[in-house]
Amino acid sequence: MLVDYHVHTLGHDTFHRSDEDLALYCQTALSRGLKEIGFAEHDYYYFDFDPERILVQARRFPELNVRVGVEVDFVPGREAEIRAFLKARPFDFVIGSVHQVDGFSFDEERDIPKYAEWETTDLFRRYYSCVAQAAVSGLFDIIGHLDLIKIFNFVPLQDALELAWPALAAISAAGLCIELNTNGRYKPVRDFYPGQALLTECRRLGIPLTLGSDAHQPTDVGREVRLAAALAWRAGYRKVATFSNRKRSLVPLG
Ligand SMILES: [Zn+2]
Ligand SMILES: [Zn+2]
Repeated sequence: MLVDYHVHTLGHDTFHRSDEDLALYCQTALSRGLKEIGFAEHDYYYFDFDPERILVQARRFPELNVRVGVEVDFVPGREAEIRAFLKARPFDFVIGSVHQVDGFSFDEERDIPKYAEWETTDLFRRYYSCVAQAAVSGLFDIIGHLDLIKIFNFVPLQDALELAWPALAAISAAGLCIELNTNGRYKPVRDFYPGQALLTECRRLGIPLTLGSDAHQPTDVGREVRLAAALAWRAGYRKVATFSNRKRSLVPLG
């Protein structure tokens, strides 16, 4: 079964979506052969975002399962605030993502000059320590774009897989799911998150997997998800994770 569990309707350039646009997300999902789509708005857009508007449009597409979740920006120290935020909302799933390390927004193009202030190996180590803390927090169902830190092709001296190990161990111990996120294919690194070696290691550890495009436009829903499913299969995955009311199910990938 093909799914896309990482879809945004709002982005930095788009603060409003028409009903037609919302319907187009569902229509694109169906046209790309998806059976299920999970909307995962950034937590900081929830102040004026009503997921009910998506569900109203989704009723026009009864053959598509629509889930509503959230992508939470994880920063160590925000745990109590995040817990309160999640407690107030009945999400189907919660993605925990690390987008900054010690205040450095490492995935923002405008912040690339700040890489000069870091030793790359230290930055990777610190990043994966934050990911491990996200896993240990017990707040999330899915860890988002596991190796996002590679986005701009800064390569650490130490083996990247070794540096990721503490995060993998924490994710595995917490019984969390990861996603195979296709968005990195359109970033300077031109690779999936996680890449093949890391994905294979996750599989070896028995970490469940879901699929996500990280679409920020209706036309990007399900983008390369079919290819991601093929890669997951090659890495040994035979099931894909789906979520409802924060309960995980595993369904056949093929
Ligand atoms: Zn993200
Ligand atoms: Zn995202």
